[in-house]
Amino acid sequence: MKAESNISKIDEIRKLFPILREKINGHKLIYFDNAATTQKPDMVIRVLDDYYRTYNSNIHRGIHYLAEKATAKFEETREATREFINAQETEQIIFTTGTTDSINLVASSWGRANLKQDDEVIISVMEHHSNIVPWQLICEEKGAKLQVIPVDEHGDLIIEAFEQLLSKKTKLVSIAHISNALGVINPVKEIIEKAHDVGAIVMLDGAQAAAHINIDVQNLDCDFYAFSGHKVYGPTGTGILYGKRDLLESMPPYRSGGEMISEVRLDKTTFNELPYKFEAGTPNIAGFIALKQALEFVDKIKSGELATKHEEMLLQYGTRALNKIPGLKIVGDSKNKIAVISFVIKGLHHYDLGLMLDTRGVALRTGHHCAQPLMKHFDIDGTTRASFAIYNTFEEIDYFVKQLSNLVNKWKK
Ligand code: PMP
Repeated sequence: MKAESNISKIDEIRKLFPILREKINGHKLIYFDNAATTQKPDMVIRVLDDYYRTYNSNIHRGIHYLAEKATAKFEETREATREFINAQETEQIIFTTGTTDSINLVASSWGRANLKQDDEVIISVMEHHSNIVPWQLICEEKGAKLQVIPVDEHGDLIIEAFEQLLSKKTKLVSIAHISNALGVINPVKEIIEKAHDVGAIVMLDGAQAAAHINIDVQNLDCDFYAFSGHKVYGPTGTGILYGKRDLLESMPPYRSGGEMISEVRLDKTTFNELPYKFEAGTPNIAGFIALKQALEFVDKIKSGELATKHEEMLLQYGTRALNKIPGLKIVGDSKNKIAVISFVIKGLHHYDLGLMLDTRGVALRTGHHCAQPLMKHFDIDGTTRASFAIYNTFEEIDYFVKQLSNLVNKWKK
């Protein structure tokens, strides 16, 4: 199994990430919390540094050299993002602060303008809180109803239940492309087709997808797509919202202020064109400029399916090893998964496990993963989650599983 992996390429990739050379609690860092945020490669860090050292400036309004350079670089990322998700037009790429902000934008702007009493919005029980709460709030405000697709024992969405929820009342379906808590890849193309059949639009939460699988918004035919820069090896505070042009054109502004206006008179304001209509205020300029490097990096590791193949092998390897630990149960054993392994161990609380593993240099996530309804569905209060990225190795998994086995054995005595 190990021999099949492209180990020399992974070694080269690891060298790009300075943080992987850090020692944590006296141990080499093993970073398995990639679903929360990925580490940043040198080229992303260098661009952030270069911006602040050599051309820090506000964008769009300045006529001096620095402003023009910063603006051009900032807009280059918009075009790179268009290519990254295969959107038709650059104007369909709205810069936000992250997936949460992108979903709030759609819920507030589209939702407030379009939802009416007794309309229905469908989400699923596996959603991240940021794809639940904005819909709850807008549904409450408009008297609309939030419907929820259940999952089966493997963590797969129950599509028959979704079909039963769909009706003429359904106005929008908002679903994770991939679940953060379980790693399950949802059959979003099928969901989109079925939703479109009843005239509903579909928003995809791509926070967990963008770093791992190819995104083609035209092929998916989704109406909105959201993801976060910090989960694709890019800076925090950068997010993307893609939308179909007619929808974006018809939506009222989300936040207001500078940048998003065309003309402000004291009696009336007219708004800027797409995408600026939705981009009030000064954004994370350095972050967006550096995001281009991150997207190029992801494109590279996705090409030749290096990322998919390596991460798939890590998933298989890790799953096999963890399943040998007595009392350990993987939550969400769908056949359709990215390299995320969520598990519980009988009698051992995930919080204690997380702390003990941290003392041994292993960083992973414990708790409800901002998916409390899903935890309730499985009748647990949380899991321990190991989520892998391109720079993780089989040796790291060996070390992690050994430490975990030691802890379980010690606890049993
Ligand atoms: N949706 C999913 C599926 C996520 O995993 C996350 C982040 N954990 C979010 C939404 C929210 O992303 P952000 O915090 O970057 O806005």
